[in-house]
Amino acid sequence: MRIAALLLITLLSINSSHAYEVSENFWDTGQAIFHVGISGSSPTGGTWNDAFKRSMAAWSNVSSFEFVAVDNYLDPCIDRGEGLFGDGSTGIDFSASVCGSEFGENTLAVTLSAGNCQNPQCTNGFIITDADIVFNSAETWDVYSGSLRFDGTNEFERVALHELGHALGLNHSNANAAIMRAFMSDTDSLQSDDIAGIASIYGSEGAVTETTVANIYGVTLVAPDNATISGPNNSSTLSGTLSSKDNQLDGKALDLYQYTFENDSSIDIQLNSQTFDPFLYLVRVSATQASIPSSSFADDNSGSGNGARINLNIQAGTYWLGVTSDDNSAQGSYDVSIISSTSNPPSSFETFTSIYGADVLINPNSNIDGSLRSTDFKFNNRFLDLVQIEVTTTSAVKIDLSSTAFDTNLLLVDIVNNEVGSLVLENDDNGSGTNSRLETTLEPGTYWLGVTSYDPSESGNYDIAITLVLP
Ligand SMILES: [Zn+2]
Repeated sequence: MRIAALLLITLLSINSSHAYEVSENFWDTGQAIFHVGISGSSPTGGTWNDAFKRSMAAWSNVSSFEFVAVDNYLDPCIDRGEGLFGDGSTGIDFSASVCGSEFGENTLAVTLSAGNCQNPQCTNGFIITDADIVFNSAETWDVYSGSLRFDGTNEFERVALHELGHALGLNHSNANAAIMRAFMSDTDSLQSDDIAGIASIYGSEGAVTETTVANIYGVTLVAPDNATISGPNNSSTLSGTLSSKDNQLDGKALDLYQYTFENDSSIDIQLNSQTFDPFLYLVRVSATQASIPSSSFADDNSGSGNGARINLNIQAGTYWLGVTSDDNSAQGSYDVSIISSTSNPPSSFETFTSIYGADVLINPNSNIDGSLRSTDFKFNNRFLDLVQIEVTTTSAVKIDLSSTAFDTNLLLVDIVNNEVGSLVLENDDNGSGTNSRLETTLEPGTYWLGVTSYDPSESGNYDIAITLVLP
């Protein structure tokens, strides 16, 4: 069951030692990706986007929660309105209405959260999957710090801070100075009550939040939602902040992102920061998130200034992009730009014909896209794709097969001497809807994933996501 919530102003009297109020809703990954691409600038305080990103960083810096900014515009009103629950991707913008409904009187902005209920009655809140924010374009806005101006100009950055508080699961606070107080005030930064509020949901700064996409070293991994790059030409940018709460690698703060290049690609990745000397890693990984030998790249100063840059031809596959520094105490914001072009479409993935007559694709990705087609091998009157993966370390994995085109059925077998071994697993509907999910522990070895449909002769696009299950 899915649900949407419109966060309304409600002032409650509270008999407790704190004033913040939490909803029962939260992001179970401990992170939220926002598309930040509002056009234009404020009259006196720089661009709206810079102000919004400072607000995201402010929350990230005081908790284990992480906001990630993707520098693309996304309409917050996609799939919004009565009976709709958003598109699962978070956007922000100014608008004359709340996605078609009127703004309430004196309402400056609205956060539209949506997610998946935690029980059938939805009495325990929901896991947030989307939290679009709409600012009222009928109001007058600027970006400035300190006391509110008396000319009726609203201050964008503190309202953004407030709405992001709703987006991460906070309700209104009755603490006088809190950003989460229901009314805009002279408070222009997060206060102790706000910080206690976010800590009560996600843990305080320095705490480690577990995510479902994480590597064997226990480092939190961010998978931006435009992380699958299929080309032929693709460019994307993202912004982040190194802080003391980040994962540490050799004593240095590290942010790690996952991208999948579906084709062999010529790539140019540039990392720049105004506040620290950046260092960039690119590591190709297997389906079970182990680094693939001889496919690791690093750079310190090949970019402009002291920027880092990796510019080379890479094989199709899943990669981790690591942002860190030479300097143990490096902190501050950074920008990454990724430009790629497909050099050898459709892909260099090796395909061979098995002894059973079916073609097998060798694909080391943890995210695999494909389609069942009428030209595919037929097994049991159903089309079948086989993908071979290698497992180098004993790994507890969750394998999700999803399709909006057909009712999926997922097979997993181990391969010994080119033949199917003793492990044979099959699942129809353990995923959401009619999607399939297998959870198991794989010993080192070679495995085939079989993608087929539950009903005969179905076809269409599908995707496979392999994630490690942490102890
Ligand atoms: Zn509010």
